[in-house]
Amino acid sequence: MSFIIDGKTIAATIKDELRQEVELLKAQGKSCALAVIQVGNDPASSVYVRNKKNACNYIGITSLSYELPEETTEEELLACIDQLNEDPNVHGILCQLPLPRHMDENKVIRRISPKKDVDGFHPENVGALTIGQEGFVSCTPAGIIQLLKRSNIPMEGKHCVVVGRSNIVGKPMALLMLQENATVTVCHSRTQNLKEICKEADILIVAIGKPQFINEEYVKDGAVVIDVGIHRMEDGHLCGDVDFESVSPKASAITPVPGGVGPMTICMLMHNCVEAMKRFS
Ligand code: NDP
Repeated sequence: MSFIIDGKTIAATIKDELRQEVELLKAQGKSCALAVIQVGNDPASSVYVRNKKNACNYIGITSLSYELPEETTEEELLACIDQLNEDPNVHGILCQLPLPRHMDENKVIRRISPKKDVDGFHPENVGALTIGQEGFVSCTPAGIIQLLKRSNIPMEGKHCVVVGRSNIVGKPMALLMLQENATVTVCHSRTQNLKEICKEADILIVAIGKPQFINEEYVKDGAVVIDVGIHRMEDGHLCGDVDFESVSPKASAITPVPGGVGPMTICMLMHNCVEAMKRFS
């Protein structure tokens, strides 16, 4: 029987730590604000935005909402970002992705000041992570490091296999594991012998976006398995990229879906926001 890594409880603990910190900062006259921009009303994005606002409210971060209509031009969005970049009372800026098709996401990400880029997507922050300097780190991989640390799972010297090389999960994940002195292998859709490589992992981190793709045949006995994927199946239940039922008896520790990696993403966003205020205001 494997140890279930309880992301819900760990995220709640971090949120409480942040809440206390924000309270202390407020007592010193310092307050923290996050601007959340949503263009259009994609239902999934609206749920994420609402969850982010709720987390802000809980922790004591002011959330400023910018709900722009679908027809907003790229120029108008960039002007909104410019204004928030200049505003000393705004510490973090988040532009909910995906953006409507007529907008260039890379251009929009680049426009957010790196000092307020609490998503950690700006090339300057990605570059800082690559060379091990201070910057904002993408929230999901940063949350996974917290899950491992707070579950007392050692990373140093371990072979970590990351499946997926996206800019927001796989690549920053690999860099963070390297910083933790793991030996890292990154796999993707062109990888040959995926099963064999995954089977060598002491820590297997899966972010491929394919429901229950990784089964017990990919997992070494006693491996730690982190499932980033999240999918709603036809019958309404949620599952990850890992087939929890077949993998969990083999793993020494595993994250469930829901309640594993998911809750960590928003709490690391809140962490970045408080850091932005402490570093730059
Ligand atoms: P992307 O679609 O951007 O990237 C998927 C990656 O997986 C790509 O690098 C792709 O390779 C690789 N891949 C796809 N199929 C295979 C395969 N058969 N074998 C090996 N590699 C494969 O996804 P994201 O990184 O954005 O997200 C991954 C999953 O995590 C999704 O389910 C997403 O919903 C979830 N997610 C969850 C979050 C949370 O907070 N819990 C946050 C972010 C994401 P290639 O580069 O060659 O195409």
